[in-house]
Amino acid sequence: MSAATLSYEVFVNDPPQKADAPLLPNGEPKGGSPVASTLIYGAEDAVLTDPAFTTEQAQALGDWVAAKDRNITEIYITHGHGDHWFAAGVLAERFGARVIATAGSIEQMHANVAARPLLWDKAYAGLIPPSPVTAETVPGNRFTLEGHELVIVEVGHSDTDDTTVLHIPDIELVVSGDVIYNGAHLYLGESVLVGGLDPWRSAIDTVAALEPRHIVCGHQNKRNDDDADRTIAETRQYLDYADELLQTEPTAVAFFNAMIERYPDHLARTVLWASANALYGVRNHPDEEVREIILAGWL
Ligand SMILES: [Zn+2]
Repeated sequence: MSAATLSYEVFVNDPPQKADAPLLPNGEPKGGSPVASTLIYGAEDAVLTDPAFTTEQAQALGDWVAAKDRNITEIYITHGHGDHWFAAGVLAERFGARVIATAGSIEQMHANVAARPLLWDKAYAGLIPPSPVTAETVPGNRFTLEGHELVIVEVGHSDTDDTTVLHIPDIELVVSGDVIYNGAHLYLGESVLVGGLDPWRSAIDTVAALEPRHIVCGHQNKRNDDDADRTIAETRQYLDYADELLQTEPTAVAFFNAMIERYPDHLARTVLWASANALYGVRNHPDEEVREIILAGWL
């Protein structure tokens, strides 16, 4: 059974709300970032990407997927950050799908599970289901959906190590995980582990070379379109502006405020604050453990 063409649709899960959330420097409660899941489908089968992380999100996404009436063959995870996949086991079981990722991402997934008690279960107590790492690799980083090729492209470090995008050449689509963002603040915190933002710029260049028309970003404002040229350009500009501010702004709060002034409509200011804490924390405390500074920036 081979479909003439594939289609895709996107479901954006809003971040979980917390009644007792601590506050950001501007007084608003901490939250998270919306997480986008993509359903790529043919006549009968479908592949789902990055199925978010709380039990509630898994339920909402699962109900949306079920209404599409397709057989879910694979759930693809773009990278190891827990907010993209801690709910994968719940969805895999519901739909009888296998979970796939690269060997590098699988290693990062294990690291994110190890960080649950230090980070995720502190920030989102009781909201995240069990998250065993069941992902497997596929030979040659390729798999098919009704005869159409889905290509896993490893792009190295973007907002974390060992990140990937999923390229579907037949429909000129890239599912970009956290390599390209769309209307939400980028997470820059882990750039302190790799000497700055240039590895991320290289990752963007790799995506641009695929010449997609459409990009579904892992974090996006659901009101935005998925134009590839715009989202690539805006992600590059954000990185450049962050580098500028790192030269001119003396403190994390000043960096935070300047970014909000430049990007007043961007979602996920909690992510911006975590970035600022990591960037300035490492600068101001060169003798402290970098990974502890990064984690503390979220709490
Ligand atoms: Zn992310």
